[in-house]
This record gives sequence, C-alpha cells and structure tokens, in this order.
Amino acid sequence: MPRSGVGLTKYGPKGNLSPSIGEPCSLCGVPFREGDYTTMIRATRDSKHGNVNIEVHWDCATKPAS
Ligand SMILES: [Zn+2]
Repeated sequence: MPRSGVGLTKYGPKGNLSPSIGEPCSLCGVPFREGDYTTMIRATRDSKHGNVNIEVHWDCATKPAS
C-alpha cells in the first residue's frame, strides 16, 4: 500500500471537465468526482496496469492502510 504522502504530488480539486471523472479509484473503487483531490501512484503490482502511474484519491494514498 502507498506510504504516507511522501513524494506524492497533490492534484485538484478536479473540475467538471476532468477526463478521469467517473473512473473508479484503484484503491477504494469509488469513482472520481468534481472537487476531488487526487495523486498519482506507481502501480507495480497490478498486472492490469503494469508498471505505470495510476490516479487515486489523495486521501486513499495518504491514509494509512487499516
Ligand atoms: Zn479512493
């Protein structure tokens, strides 16, 4: 799981023209909405994405995994 925000860039809030609105966050599965803050993380363990950056909610990337 991502670590506590170190080295991550915070993007947002999303405008209503953002291309990723409606796309599910890879960490929580909730679609991105207008006004969300997001960041890019490395998806090295997801074979579907391969070794690429994926967009997730800022909160999902920075909250410690429970
Ligand atoms: Zn999320």
